[in-house]
Amino acid sequence: MSRYTKRMGNQSRYVRLPVLPSWEKLLSRLYVLPDTHADRKSVRLELLGILSNSNVTVRQLLSRLCVVLPKIGDCDAVIIVTKSAQGITEQASTMSRRKTDEILSIRALKRHLEPRSTAFNRRLGTHVQLGGSKKLDHYHFMFLGEWSGQELYLIASTTQGISGETARALEVIGQVVGLRLESVRLAAELASQRTKLSNLTQQLGEGMMVLDNNLNITLWNRSLQKLTGYKPNEVVGRNYQEAFRRLDKPDWLKEALEEKSGEKGPKHLTLDFEIATNQGSRWVSVVVSAFSNDESVLDQIVLIARDISHSKHLEQKKNEFISIATHELRTPLTAIKGYLSLLERDKEALSEKQINYIDQATKATHRLVRLAEDLLKVVQIEQGRLQVHPTAFQLFPLLKKIVRDFKPRAASKGLTLSLNKPSFSTPVLLDPERTEQIFANLIDNALKYTHQGSVKISMEIIDKGLQNRSSLATHIRDTGIGIGSKNIEEIFEKFHRVHRLEQSREQGAGLGLYIVRSFIEKQGGMISVKSREGKGTVFTVTVPLYNRHDAIRQFSDSNHNRLEEER
Ligand code: ADP
Repeated sequence: MSRYTKRMGNQSRYVRLPVLPSWEKLLSRLYVLPDTHADRKSVRLELLGILSNSNVTVRQLLSRLCVVLPKIGDCDAVIIVTKSAQGITEQASTMSRRKTDEILSIRALKRHLEPRSTAFNRRLGTHVQLGGSKKLDHYHFMFLGEWSGQELYLIASTTQGISGETARALEVIGQVVGLRLESVRLAAELASQRTKLSNLTQQLGEGMMVLDNNLNITLWNRSLQKLTGYKPNEVVGRNYQEAFRRLDKPDWLKEALEEKSGEKGPKHLTLDFEIATNQGSRWVSVVVSAFSNDESVLDQIVLIARDISHSKHLEQKKNEFISIATHELRTPLTAIKGYLSLLERDKEALSEKQINYIDQATKATHRLVRLAEDLLKVVQIEQGRLQVHPTAFQLFPLLKKIVRDFKPRAASKGLTLSLNKPSFSTPVLLDPERTEQIFANLIDNALKYTHQGSVKISMEIIDKGLQNRSSLATHIRDTGIGIGSKNIEEIFEKFHRVHRLEQSREQGAGLGLYIVRSFIEKQGGMISVKSREGKGTVFTVTVPLYNRHDAIRQFSDSNHNRLEEER
């Protein structure tokens, strides 16, 4: 129960209001209308009619109140005013303009309109002659509520004092009017918020859609209409798949939300994909935010989509160019490599200087071949054409072989390269060729960016690793030049190389780590890095361990493939 004090005469008393009074409850209070009145029922009905009818505007309500109230408790004159810093302004009155002004000019009356005050049976020591023998000298004030940002008061005057019963009736009417004003204020606020929100969503340069918990569309803005060609009235109320259909995976949103279901709070994800529109297909970059209610049940999904077709088109053109250029490069490179190895075979016929030239040319050719291969891998990754062929195998023997291959390189730089033999032997389910490329690249980098000290490789099992599954973490730890915190985020981006003096001698295109990360992630793994400038770097590759679950899946996949082939 909320309580607030109303002043009545000189006494203080409490009027109790339910926390959330319903209209019915408040209107039933109008039964307190004083008995003395000749036609109580018709007055009550009239009041009920004007107070409960939401089609009656506040201004109409105020004028009607001025007409009805004089019938209660012998009020002879009623004025409703708003009070603000600018002064008192009349809103409605039962009297002529001149009489109203006369009453409002009584200074004592203004003084009594204290903030939110209600007072009955005030004598102001002055009176207004109404006509005939009627002299108004009792005044009653009542705070009604706020309207248009100003305080609204009712001033009633009578020729004699009013009874407690009439005062109570007036007070109840005041409360009901207050509630009505509050609901008008809230409705106006809501409408203005709605307009602001709708302007914001409609004017937003990005496409915006809101879905309910059944994944049905509740909002579809103008930019999305432009992007897809569908009008809001064609799609609101329909499932998102009907209007925003992803070409490769129509049910993408449900799947993405299921994957994130374990996360607490709002869930966010960003994806790029191609959708069908009614004018063909478009590439979009989509940001999804899913909100749950207090019971953690999905409540609303907001989806922002940006048209990236143009940049996708440029990217496709760029990839096509790289692909053609590198293929074209490979043919003459293979020829150069062949001729160089032919020359090498006839070493005896050559001078030392010539052998040295051939050596330099062979190294440069190898570098070019590697660059061409890396560029082709990047194109494969970007076009989503990267293939992996998972096989269950032991990682340690593979690492041993790679380390053996790199030993001469480490020795030539005066570095120690070592691999710790693990105490366990558990298989992983990976593509052996890609895995070799991953670790060869990381060890190559470690040796490249270390000028003294060592490169150590070690393995450990993490019980609750990736997706809470048992995982295998392999660390490649070097004592090299390290990577500053400023650059560490960017080293996995393609063509990114840290610009610094210490590595100016080392060659590279900045593609290695980009390819490594793509290979690892494609196989369900993760790569992380910790580094201190001048001290060294640790790269950690974590991959899920091969388990019974994988074995069953692999068996059913191979069976499926066999059946497909037999068909
Ligand atoms: P590249 O070696 O061809 O420049 P990468 O993609 O393999 O390209 O590596 C990107 C950048 O990350 C390198 O240029 C280097 O600055 C930094 N980096 C990679 N590995 C190491 C390491 N072990 N120690 C220090 N810096 C490293």
